[in-house]
Amino acid sequence: MTAIINAVSDRQGDPVSPSAKLTGFVANEIEIPWASCVIAVRKDGASARSFLARNLPGADILELARYRIQLSDDPRSTEAKKGGFPLFMRDVMERLVSGRSVAIDAQGIRDDQIREFQRMTSKAYAPGIRLDLDGDCEETTLHMLPSPTDRRDDAGPFDIVGDVHGCLEELRELLADLGYDVAEYRDADHQRRFTVTHLGGRRIAFVGDLADRGPDSVGCLALAMDAVASGVAVWTIGNHDGKLLDWLRNRKVSMNHGFPTTTSEVSAEPESFRTRLLDTLRTLPSHLLLDGGNLVVAHAGCLEEMHGRDSSYLTSFCMFGPVTGQTDVHGYPVRGDWTSDYRGRALVVQGHTPVTDPTWGPNGNVLCIDTGCCFGGALTAMRWPERELVSVPAVDAHAVHHEFQPQATRLQGP
Ligand code: MN
Repeated sequence: MTAIINAVSDRQGDPVSPSAKLTGFVANEIEIPWASCVIAVRKDGASARSFLARNLPGADILELARYRIQLSDDPRSTEAKKGGFPLFMRDVMERLVSGRSVAIDAQGIRDDQIREFQRMTSKAYAPGIRLDLDGDCEETTLHMLPSPTDRRDDAGPFDIVGDVHGCLEELRELLADLGYDVAEYRDADHQRRFTVTHLGGRRIAFVGDLADRGPDSVGCLALAMDAVASGVAVWTIGNHDGKLLDWLRNRKVSMNHGFPTTTSEVSAEPESFRTRLLDTLRTLPSHLLLDGGNLVVAHAGCLEEMHGRDSSYLTSFCMFGPVTGQTDVHGYPVRGDWTSDYRGRALVVQGHTPVTDPTWGPNGNVLCIDTGCCFGGALTAMRWPERELVSVPAVDAHAVHHEFQPQATRLQGP
């Protein structure tokens, strides 16, 4: 019997891309993320072309040997071996960027070159999926999942909520103002649970960053998880959510920006809470394209060519925005600006950068609604499609931000 013996996504050897599950090996059928660039490797060193042609009929199937031949009549010559791979890579990228579906027959390609492909195709919003085949896998079928980020057929209405950062009290007040009923209880496992309902059928769209800095990160995470599970909320991944996910997976993370309070809160919860949190965070979408393509929700930004697509590179952009890789004197990453070049039709509603008041981008098609609640500002929502802004002032300031000044009159505290 022949089978797929291994399947690895573009996210560091992880079998799961952040927003599309690679569910595995049920009856020799395998699900792969939408718009993947499949890289098929046969254990016996033979060509995987027939497998790819059978499973991905619309795709351009490319192999290295063809590019070596272009350079020299002898594909084993030094010239062909050296120059073939860059030529191959360039052609793959050009096809992906122009929206073609591409699959790679990895015959004759080294493991490090396959990893290079996975890194590169991710930048063209095509998750690079390595499939190791034992034999020709004649009975194996690939199923491409729909894009987890393209929800154009969902028109809402939505209440898009900015960075909550552990401020449960303000979140509950804001949701009450927006017409939601919220009730908290403990389940049989003694986990904190919430029921969130809206009689008008409205739904919450969290821009991400539910935890860190504020006094009740677990409460905010529990509320958001339950609201997502019951279909009352969607939640796009923020950089703090991504960090929490890394921590839950025992990956190395830096203990700054309010993270230690969250980890001690989460550690005090029952094991079932952490399992549920991990399962929720790993399936959060990078961003969401909604309402006929007129609305995008993303934590730190989303370029027009990314809308409705997905990959690990794209997810990183949505979580952090265009970072320069440098940190400032306060230890914060230096952030680039993407909004002045953004000409898209969709309004992008984002958080991430605390602003004193909700702030429009220079072209009127980006809105930042992170009004720095945890820093003593306010928690803000935008109602869609009404485009109305609703804010509640912070009860208290729980952290200091070097570039953010709350309006002094806003603080409710004593
Ligand atoms: Mn934030």
